Amino acid sequence: MKDWSMETKAVQSGYSPKNGEPRVAPIVQSTTYKYDSCQAIADLFDLKVAGHMYSRISNPTVEVFENKMAALEGGVGALALSSGQTASTISVLNICEAGDHFVALSTLYGGTFNLFKHTMKKLGIEVSFVDPEASPEEVKQSFQSNTKLLFGESLSNPGTDMLNFEKFSAIAKEMDVPFIVDNTFPTPYLCNPLQLGADIVIHSTTKYVDGHATSVGGMIVDGGTFNWANGKFPGMTEPDESYHGLSYVDTFGPNAYIVKARVQWVRDVGCYMSPQNAFLSNKGLETLHLRMERHSENALKLAEYLEKHEKVTWVKYPRLESDPNYELCVKYMKAGSGVLTFGVQGGSAAAERVMDALQLAERVVHVADVRTGVLHPASMTHRQLSEEDQLKAGVLPELIRVSVGIEGVDDIIADFSQALEKL
Ligand SMILES: *Cc1c(COP(=O)(O)O)cnc(C)c1O
Repeated sequence: MKDWSMETKAVQSGYSPKNGEPRVAPIVQSTTYKYDSCQAIADLFDLKVAGHMYSRISNPTVEVFENKMAALEGGVGALALSSGQTASTISVLNICEAGDHFVALSTLYGGTFNLFKHTMKKLGIEVSFVDPEASPEEVKQSFQSNTKLLFGESLSNPGTDMLNFEKFSAIAKEMDVPFIVDNTFPTPYLCNPLQLGADIVIHSTTKYVDGHATSVGGMIVDGGTFNWANGKFPGMTEPDESYHGLSYVDTFGPNAYIVKARVQWVRDVGCYMSPQNAFLSNKGLETLHLRMERHSENALKLAEYLEKHEKVTWVKYPRLESDPNYELCVKYMKAGSGVLTFGVQGGSAAAERVMDALQLAERVVHVADVRTGVLHPASMTHRQLSEEDQLKAGVLPELIRVSVGIEGVDDIIADFSQALEKL
């Protein structure tokens, strides 16, 4: 099915029922699986055969969602987790331990930034943040002998800065570490990091993948291309005592990273997705292509309207020709996705006044679902960051983040028009 289009994969991949089986992949609401012999279960525990053993580690409904995401991203395997935050956490812990270091772009989602800067540090893992505009030489200077990965967002939240794939994937290759990319905002329909030099892709499926604001979830997809046997990743190549001395790379080849994350990390800390959430998120994927086109179309029209408005001081949307990210966005993405940011005259207080006056667009701590929503990062998602870190992440006090929904665009524009009039 490799040559199916994105649209067909979004609808059909991940599940093909046999004769007489349900057309829609059912919700297998079972923690447990029955086997005919003790030996059959022992073989599962020894990872000699594949199969479901316990729903902390795998489940048939979740597997359908994993398979579809792997197909959409073009990866060899995927692992669904209980949130985007766990996807970030496990993607790093799978190959980093106390005493290690990694490099991340400074323009990250606030939750990821906190996780990396504060929580990883408590685990003994140090992070260096680099400015996305820094020269390749400057970026390379932040690498150390114990650096294990490079991490960035394809389109950053909330700044909507487009990742320079060419620059950063070349650096990761030269430094011989995997390049992990959070592809939450574009989704695989608009951008394919694995084809642009990333080795591993992660998602908060809570956003456009689900798309309807029903289910918190995360996903890790592995491209299967990184050479883990380069001497930097003993956890991937050396015997795992918790599986009778098995080596992930020797036993599982290109699937080593996902298998290790599942049978070691998810087994031990238990952060797997629930079947119910996988069912709903997979339903969302069936219309991913239609929704992403409309989100992008509506966002561009709203951005063009706001750009001309006298009370609006600036608008940032990667498909506006005036936007510094325009060329990179055209190069790497099919369309601009549904998130834009803008600033109003009068700073933080004015931003809150405009937000409170909106009627169709709602004030929500969420982004990327079918309904238009607004958020003020400085006083909400990024409020735990210092002012300096906020600025590094592109969060200005007057910045309003709009998640443009798929309602009628004239209604959306009319709502912003009446709210801005109240300023
Ligand atoms: C929301 C978000 C996350 C965190 O995901 P949760 O599902 O909320 O845990 C990570 N990265 C990006 C880019 C996000 O927008």
